[in-house]
Amino acid sequence: MVRLKFGGNEKSFLPNTSNKSVGKSLWAAILKSRSHVEQNSTLQVNNGDRVLFWKDVWITDQSLQARFPNLYSLSRLQDATIQEVLDENVGNSWNFYFCRNLREAEIEDIAHLLNFLATFNRGEGQDHRLWQNGTKTFSVEECYKSLEDDDLLVFPYKSVCNPKIPQKVIFFVWSFCYNAAPTMDSLGNPYDVNGCLLCKKSAESNQHLFLHCDTTREIWFYFLSAYNLQWVFQGSVRNTLWEWRRKKGKNLSLKTKIWDMIPFAIWWAVWLERNSRVFNGRYNSTSNLKDGIKTLIYS
Ligand SMILES: [Zn+2]
Repeated sequence: MVRLKFGGNEKSFLPNTSNKSVGKSLWAAILKSRSHVEQNSTLQVNNGDRVLFWKDVWITDQSLQARFPNLYSLSRLQDATIQEVLDENVGNSWNFYFCRNLREAEIEDIAHLLNFLATFNRGEGQDHRLWQNGTKTFSVEECYKSLEDDDLLVFPYKSVCNPKIPQKVIFFVWSFCYNAAPTMDSLGNPYDVNGCLLCKKSAESNQHLFLHCDTTREIWFYFLSAYNLQWVFQGSVRNTLWEWRRKKGKNLSLKTKIWDMIPFAIWWAVWLERNSRVFNGRYNSTSNLKDGIKTLIYS
């Protein structure tokens, strides 16, 4: 889905950068991690199946696209992997798929390029991305630690290492960390509904619906009262999630798995209730909502 929307090469380790505006806030946040991953990792080329011949940095200290821009512009397979450019049957032989015969000035470039390529030895097995100067194999966990250490995370993924929270709920909460939930403000109120249907006092926005709405706050305080915690609501969903995680860090007596689930259960229930009111005209009472959230948490 991501590839369809933003383009990219399925054989590449990294996604394409994109200027498209559709869902940009979400995707832009992901791409912030892209350069971090690129800068902190190196490629180990084996059979050449995952490394892009022109675009990745693999045989010199810069990409072949950057070092030989003229040759790159002549290639008909600019997104090819090393494996696709290597001639499978003839040892270390290459097929560059240029769109025309080379001119004299370009012959010098190709000689330089072949000099670099002569040092390449095709290996067995798939290509790998190595992490932090090749000291570790790249993994999502190592990448996460590094992003967290460098304060580059906007979503506390560790809080959702809980198999009881469904993926669709995690993705939903993640989306409105970037103000991307389709509330009335972002849609220009296409359903002809007068503002927030949970409190009927205010315009509906991500911030309002999930944090500041009277109904939502009543639910929040109901669940917080079980923990005897003072709580000052943060300005954004994202900061609320981080604060939630910090509170857990300080108070080890909290039942941590339940603690992690509370915001997700509240937000999911609030969103379903909001949709029920907007699309079906069906209203549940706040106490029914609380019971529903308890069922989500404890079932
Ligand atoms: Zn409201």
